[in-house]
Amino acid sequence: MRNKGIVVALLILLMVAAIALPAFARGPICERCDEGELKQKPTVYTPWETIDFTICQKNPNYNDKKQQRFAIRTWTCNNCGVSEVISTTEYRILCEH
Ligand SMILES: [Zn+2]
Ligand SMILES: [Zn+2]
Repeated sequence: MRNKGIVVALLILLMVAAIALPAFARGPICERCDEGELKQKPTVYTPWETIDFTICQKNPNYNDKKQQRFAIRTWTCNNCGVSEVISTTEYRILCEH
């Protein structure tokens, strides 16, 4: 009889997942109009810019470039057209040796 309990619990889990999944498939709801769906546009990256040098891991006689760029992610509402723009800073060490 304990197994039956587990099956019921699984069924409930499946039902919850079936209800929750379409909500995930939809984008985030617009906070501005509370109706539209936010759609993500392609991420825009600024060019890598060298901001510093750091000693090369392969050869201490060389310097590697410390670089920075911005990643700009835009979410636009398909109802009122308002966008949410999120920019994050990305870093990398560029070794050309
Ligand atoms: Zn909206
Ligand atoms: Zn290097």
